[in-house]
Amino acid sequence: MRQLWIGGRFAAGSGGDPIEVVDPATEEVVDHAPRASASDVDRAVAAARAAFPGWKKTSAWARADLIAAAAGRLREAREDLAVTLTRETGRTLRKNRGYVDWSSTCLEYYAGLARERRGRVIPSAEDGQLNLVLKEPLGVVGCLVPWNYPLLLLVWKVAPALAAGNTVVIKPASQTPLATLDLHRVFDHLPAGVVNIVAGSGAEIGEALVRHPDVPCIAFTGSTETGRALMRLGADRIKKLHLELGGSDAFIVCADADLDAAARACAWTAFLNAGQVCTSAERIYVERAVHDRFVERLVEVTRRLVIGPGMQEATEVTPLIARRERERIEARVAGAKQQGASIAAGGRRPPHLAKGWFYEPTVLVGVKQEHALLKEEIFGPLAPVIPFEGFDEALRMANDSPYGLGATLFSNDPRRVRRYYEEIEAGNVWVNDPLVDNPAGPFGGMKMSGLGRELGEEGLEEFQQTKHVHWDLDARPKPWWFPWSS
Ligand code: NAP
Repeated sequence: MRQLWIGGRFAAGSGGDPIEVVDPATEEVVDHAPRASASDVDRAVAAARAAFPGWKKTSAWARADLIAAAAGRLREAREDLAVTLTRETGRTLRKNRGYVDWSSTCLEYYAGLARERRGRVIPSAEDGQLNLVLKEPLGVVGCLVPWNYPLLLLVWKVAPALAAGNTVVIKPASQTPLATLDLHRVFDHLPAGVVNIVAGSGAEIGEALVRHPDVPCIAFTGSTETGRALMRLGADRIKKLHLELGGSDAFIVCADADLDAAARACAWTAFLNAGQVCTSAERIYVERAVHDRFVERLVEVTRRLVIGPGMQEATEVTPLIARRERERIEARVAGAKQQGASIAAGGRRPPHLAKGWFYEPTVLVGVKQEHALLKEEIFGPLAPVIPFEGFDEALRMANDSPYGLGATLFSNDPRRVRRYYEEIEAGNVWVNDPLVDNPAGPFGGMKMSGLGRELGEEGLEEFQQTKHVHWDLDARPKPWWFPWSS
């Protein structure tokens, strides 16, 4: 069985029965992971705290070299990690290989930024003075990661946190701890305690990490509900919280768009990873003049998709992460039908797959803006299509959501494109090409989709604190000092 990684050494978990990890495509147990207790978290935080002064003082260039070396080690481990990720998340091996490469690129990007990003000298009020703005690390950062992108979302936190000079304690989701526990092989060239990995339940060790007095910053990706709970937990100690939360992305198709491209892109962004992507298209708004033609194409693409286990090369659509998630999606579809929606494609468990938590990619029509289906994050392979009359209505409906993570527009009209990117309430805005991330492009949500940004320079700043230094080199008394009579 794998081990925890604390202070540069393997450690057994003292939290009781190991965690059972199940393959969503076969319903079979893949492996077990050690379960950490709150005292294991204490040891991991103590190790990270002990390593912090040395890591902070390590020159930015030396830190950058070590982070770049981690990128190389990650690429070397690509095949093993991709297979483990496929077994624990259910998604395709093909995509997981890509996610490992992407994560490696992200480490390289932050190694580069670590070399460049420093504070600055600002103008002083008088001669003989020096004013500095310093950017300093925060200390120990707790990284809490969800099951849908165990590696990528971890690296989006760990790479900038380390580049800024922090040390980290990582906690993966209970459903997907295996690839994360394997990451000691990517980070074990760093000084002991700079990276620590513990696994266990969010309610127990996740909370222990958030409450810990020696953890000033929590970087979290997960549901809005848990994000809310973390804000309450962190309030007592005024923790710095970085929150990447849920979404309900709009996908707008205008009559002038290339409908074939829009339909393929829509299927891609609604059904990738069985719709379990925070930026999945969950509300498809289509201009009424092309609604029927678009639905026809979307249905055609959807019916051609290959559903199956992620280990099979041809597979495009993979299972949901758990039995209860499939049941939740079935209940959402039943509720939508009760409110008057109908199924244009999919809408059932695939009959050819007896095992695994599969659900057919599903196109729903006759959905109305006020339907319950559009009010909460779906997080499953459903594409509800809603017609709109004019662009005002499209924007109004797209913004009518408590979430503001991502949004996509398909249009070739520059006036509409400009109005859209200026008026849409979302942090990640795509035009004619959804779900594309860029290591230098800040990623994050508006409204209830989160606080802060990952990636880009902003992603580094999340893990820095600012200090202003005023230094009078002449060191002579000033006329405004007390006593004024002198
Ligand atoms: P989740 O239940 O909120 O869990 C996320 C992580 O937090 C897991 O490691 C979990 O551990 C831990 N956790 C749960 N309760 C906790 C608590 N009280 N204190 C501390 N830690 C706690 O989310 P999920 O179901 O894994 O992920 C799906 C959600 O993530 C969706 O809403 C999706 O939209 C969102 N997401 C957002 C982004 C983004 O960038 N905005 C990206 C991906 C996913 P356990 O697994 O042990 O419970």
